[in-house]
Amino acid sequence: MIQFADRMKMLKGSEIREFMALTAKPDIISFAGGMPAPELFPTEQIMEVARIVLEENGQEALQYGTTEGIPRLREQIAARMKAKNNISTDADHILMTSGSQEGLAFSAQVFLNKGDVVLLESPSYLGAINAFKTCEPNFIEIPTDSDGMLMDELESVLKSTENVKMIYVIPDFQNPSGKTWSLERRKQFMELVNQYEIPVIEDNPYGELRFEGEYLPALKSMDTKGLVVYLGTFSKILAPGFRLGWICAEEKILAKYNFIKQAYSLQAPTISMLIASRWMDMYDLDAHVEKIRVCYKKRKDIMLEIMRKELPDSCTFTDPEGGLFTWIELPEYVDTKELSMKCLEEKVAFVTGTGFYPNGGHKNTLRLNYSNMSEEKIKEGMMKLCRIIKESI
Ligand code: PMP
Repeated sequence: MIQFADRMKMLKGSEIREFMALTAKPDIISFAGGMPAPELFPTEQIMEVARIVLEENGQEALQYGTTEGIPRLREQIAARMKAKNNISTDADHILMTSGSQEGLAFSAQVFLNKGDVVLLESPSYLGAINAFKTCEPNFIEIPTDSDGMLMDELESVLKSTENVKMIYVIPDFQNPSGKTWSLERRKQFMELVNQYEIPVIEDNPYGELRFEGEYLPALKSMDTKGLVVYLGTFSKILAPGFRLGWICAEEKILAKYNFIKQAYSLQAPTISMLIASRWMDMYDLDAHVEKIRVCYKKRKDIMLEIMRKELPDSCTFTDPEGGLFTWIELPEYVDTKELSMKCLEEKVAFVTGTGFYPNGGHKNTLRLNYSNMSEEKIKEGMMKLCRIIKESI
């Protein structure tokens, strides 16, 4: 008889991925996934760059490379992290991965034994929760307010819990809540982290997609003790199909990630790295990100305007300053699973919130994505969704 490893008991397919298959039909208005607007991908430019890379450098592009990834791309990333996130680093402190999802999975491998404790925002990114579960940890959820993780709660857990091995956070335009940590909260957090010397995984896929307000420094930029492992990605600023992310960390920690990368997949795809790097040399990533920002801000504004007008006062929601998501909390007696079935009958989809809480509960919450639907579809879908919510309250 086939016997699977114990860890497989903790793992089930991401509800979102399964749900996305259900909602991929063209007649569904889907606020469910977290996908970028595909019409903004610079497809023609990428075709041109791919041809140049293969003509000039075909053998290198199709060959194995080093585990850390091609130096030119890591230099470009280091320069961008300095410019955008105020992080002083260099190519030697960067390891290329297959998306930041791989950085999350590797973080579990690097830091977690079975039964160790992971602290994270409540709610948090479902894909990270699933990645961490492969190492069978326990999760302690730390509540948040509109300024980020609550420091009193964090401190009391750190004081009273022995085997906390890492803290996972998304300070900018969090998935799923859309919240952003204030500067003050970031400083307080780093003070606590330095005091307890716990590694922090700072996941920042959305930081560059700010619609309004001031850019805030990354936690990594305040990291005086080398405790922060910063995860970046090209998925939301260029295209997720490249499967290119990176890890920026101090040597001792990065060396461990490098061993895991060797063991799992040897290296990130050479051809993706060369094309992305050449594209950045030939085109203007800042200008491209600006286009994305303008488009998502419009879509977000339309979604939020309808929510403000149509949702009853008993519902609360975030007005994100950037990123891809807003988050709704309905009165406690509402089960968003039932709501989602009703919406699907009317060809509107969203993701229920429960999966974003590793310890379950919170059936009255849901996440909405606004990056992947046209303005017309957002209007139509949101009018339907708000009507169905009103009917359920
Ligand atoms: N972290 C967060 C918070 C995300 O929302 C996502 C993608 N939805 C990822 C990591 C993974 O992204 P990728 O692997 O495409 O870089």
